[in-house]
Amino acid sequence: MGTLQLEVVTPDKTVVSGEVEMAVCPGIEGEFGVLPKHVSLLSALKTGGLRYKTPGGKEEYVFISGGFADVNNDVLTVLAESAELAQDIDTARAMAAKERAEKRIADHAEQTDVTRAEAALHRALIRLQVAQLR
Ligand code: ATP
Repeated sequence: MGTLQLEVVTPDKTVVSGEVEMAVCPGIEGEFGVLPKHVSLLSALKTGGLRYKTPGGKEEYVFISGGFADVNNDVLTVLAESAELAQDIDTARAMAAKERAEKRIADHAEQTDVTRAEAALHRALIRLQVAQLR
C-alpha cells in the first residue's frame, strides 16, 4: 500500500519522524486522514490526539496542542505548539495542571484569565485521554 513520511515537530523537539501507513489529524473542522498519494493540503489543527499506523501495523497516539499540518509529496509535517507521544505523557503532571486550572476557573478572581485557564484545562483533559491509549 506504500507509506508516507510523518514529521511531528514542536519549537523544542522532533516528536515523530518516520514512515507511516496512514495518519489521522485533529483538524479544526474535524479529523482528517492522510494516506500515501494524498493531495497537497495545509490545515490548522486543534488540541487533540493524532494517531498513525506504522508499517508493522502498530497504532500510535500523540497529543498535540494546536498548530498546522502540511501534506506535500507524501510528507506530512505537523508543527505543533507542544506534542508528546502517548507513552511520554506524565499523567501526574496533567492531573496537577487540570486541578490548577479548575481551581482558577472556580475561584474566578478578577485577575483570572478564564480563557487561558480553560485552554490549560482542555490541554490537561486531552493529555489524560491520549495517555489512556498507550
Ligand atoms: P503544564 O502546566 O503542566 O506546564 P501546559 O499545558 O501549560 O502544562 P504546554 O505549554 O502545553 O504545557 O507544554 C510545555 C512543555 O511541557 C512542552 O514541551 C510539553 O511537551 C511539556 N508537557 C506539558 N505537560 C506535559 C505532560 N503532562 N507530560 C509530558 N510533557 C508535558
